[in-house]
Amino acid sequence: MKRFLKIAALVVVVLVLVVGTLLAVTFMGRRPLTDGQEVGGGLRMIADGFSGIVMIPVGDGDVALIDAGNDQNGEAIKSELSRRQLTPDSVTVILLTHGHPDHIGAIKAFPKAQVMALQTEVPLIEGRAGARGPLPRMFPVSPTGISVTRALTDGEVVTVGNVPIRVYAVPGHTTGSAAYVVNGVVMVGDSADIASDGSLQGAPWLFSDSQSDNRASLVRLEQRLTADGTAVTAIVPSHSGMASGLMPLSEFVRRNE
Ligand SMILES: [Zn+2]
Repeated sequence: MKRFLKIAALVVVVLVLVVGTLLAVTFMGRRPLTDGQEVGGGLRMIADGFSGIVMIPVGDGDVALIDAGNDQNGEAIKSELSRRQLTPDSVTVILLTHGHPDHIGAIKAFPKAQVMALQTEVPLIEGRAGARGPLPRMFPVSPTGISVTRALTDGEVVTVGNVPIRVYAVPGHTTGSAAYVVNGVVMVGDSADIASDGSLQGAPWLFSDSQSDNRASLVRLEQRLTADGTAVTAIVPSHSGMASGLMPLSEFVRRNE
């Protein structure tokens, strides 16, 4: 029995070390997320711990959010709303880049908000399907109690208040991952990160369904942004600091050709 306990303890220690090392490798060397950073086009970054949320003023004192962070109470979002002398009911729309738990946390704290995501991501967000990444697949699938109120399609433009938001499908990190473009700012969720040297990296292996699909999606996104004539001013990931202009994405595409 004593011997069994020793082996069990050893296995637990090894597992903790392995997972800890993988997490450290995943998050090291990234440009840090900065709370309150103006990312351009009137958009502002809110850091909810390690998860970034972008607040978009859409006119008449209303705002839209890209993602809803990790904290179920949405304290970081609420304090930004207070700073603007707004209330939780001022959040009229939440657009989700994908359905991982650290992006949908505070949705229920903003009951007036419409919840939008790509059609292909709805089952994951609502908890009717699981994510397939090496770490997420270990967690059981259960209903989240969240309803996507408007399912989006690739390439559509959603007008929220007075702000047009273009939707791009970037499958790979998850099946229905989306990037959103507002006023030249490209919000990529977890489909890319910016390293401390300013280079763009693809989605992290540990949390992603398919890194090869993700790379192909980033190549296609660059082609489509260029073809659309979008004047990209910034690339904004969810878990690292932003980069200026389209160049970091173009360089990534060159490295992956
Ligand atoms: Zn994710």
